[in-house]
Amino acid sequence: MKNAVVLSAEEKRKRLALSASEAEGLTLRDIRCPYCDFIITRVFSDASGHYLAKCQKCKRQVVLNFAYFRRQKGIGKRKAGGSAK
Ligand SMILES: [Zn+2]
Repeated sequence: MKNAVVLSAEEKRKRLALSASEAEGLTLRDIRCPYCDFIITRVFSDASGHYLAKCQKCKRQVVLNFAYFRRQKGIGKRKAGGSAK
């Protein structure tokens, strides 16, 4: 690969530690298969962009935009004008 960055073992350790420390204040949420509701992966609250996921249960491969698969508590009620069941 032309733009591949080769990291030394030391640099990888540094980046892993940095990633872990950055994630400390974040919450995790489950990303579920839109077809069978199986938990495909778990992502931190700052995750964004698109994710190519393969469901381990129903074996379907799906492209997920994290922005569209975010469960916000109470948003259904607000969108329905407070008359949601
Ligand atoms: Zn599935």
